[in-house]
Amino acid sequence: MTDQLERLGRLPLRENLRGLRPYGAPQLDVPILLNVNENTYGVPEDVRSAIVEAVQEAVSGLNRYPDREFTVLREHLAHYLGHGLTADNIWAANGSNEVLQHILLAFGGPGRSALGFPPTYSMYPLLAGSTGTAYVTGSRQENFNLDARSAAEEVAATGANVVFLCSPNNPTGTALTQEVVAEVYDAGEAAQAIIIVDEAYAEFSHEGTPSALELLPGRERLIVSRTMSKAFALAGARLGYLAAAPEIADALRLVRLPYHLSAVTQATAVAALTHSHRLLANVNEIKRQRDRIVTELTGMGLTVAPSDANFVLFGGLEDPRAVWQGLLDAGVLIRDVGIPNHLRVTAGTEKETSIFLETLESLIRPSVS
Ligand SMILES: *Cc1c(COP(=O)(O)O)cnc(C)c1O
Repeated sequence: MTDQLERLGRLPLRENLRGLRPYGAPQLDVPILLNVNENTYGVPEDVRSAIVEAVQEAVSGLNRYPDREFTVLREHLAHYLGHGLTADNIWAANGSNEVLQHILLAFGGPGRSALGFPPTYSMYPLLAGSTGTAYVTGSRQENFNLDARSAAEEVAATGANVVFLCSPNNPTGTALTQEVVAEVYDAGEAAQAIIIVDEAYAEFSHEGTPSALELLPGRERLIVSRTMSKAFALAGARLGYLAAAPEIADALRLVRLPYHLSAVTQATAVAALTHSHRLLANVNEIKRQRDRIVTELTGMGLTVAPSDANFVLFGGLEDPRAVWQGLLDAGVLIRDVGIPNHLRVTAGTEKETSIFLETLESLIRPSVS
């Protein structure tokens, strides 16, 4: 690894990429994978068949470039989101990571800055770095909540051109109130800041948690980003999307590569959206397991952040590294997100969750008596 870094260092890399490490959650071959917030339920058999059929048809036209405008897919995504949105409001790319990259390519870049509120999604600084956008950070309260007033002040003080709000926030699970989004939006007026609400986990929110989609009308600099990687159980298909004013989509057309969404991707996503109720059928069960993890970890004496996502961040661990390793030795991979004394676990199936909880309890019992 050191060798590799040394060789990399000898290449004429752009200055702002020097010393950076690529995104790298471990991909290990263990039975229970609860580390990257995937949906651990597979795609149901009938949806798989529908996808295969759609892809089969797409394959017959692979000699041609795909629909550059992915019109049918945008129509399906608008229909899924509701809120009076139409295809003109939708943009999509290969995962919401690419959607975010498009936003930074269009609205960030050299001489501009993006603001995030750590602990938050680890890709924001990396995407900022690769697009030459300065990454600046704001602060959260002790319990990881974002205070509307202080967030708005930080947006105004930094003059950031792009603001990342993540709701529910990864890795804390914290959902934002509409007040935070609205105040941050207003505070970005002077710099004409683009405000992104990353709702990758929106479908897992508790009943009654509002979506920033409700705030879109009249806010032409607001973007709500979503993905099919989590609730839809389609992380491998790579499809992320956003809803915003049509002009935002027009801006992103300037930076996307032509034909960036393959015919296979478009066919897969459309077939999946046609069966969205089937794909989302396991969301309620995952939410139940999420709530169960919160309850049981609290009972074990750990500090647990309330979560509206499909994962739980928990703290109060004396030696998180040892706990992480102990779980791995038992075949359960979870995530060390770099917050002292904390670890993050994805809610899996009932069985996976049970094995995680039992193993964890056996690992911490001696120290938390
Ligand atoms: C998982 C995740 C995404 C989704 O990334 P994809 O590229 O769509 O797979 C986006 N934002 C956050 C905060 C995430 O945790």
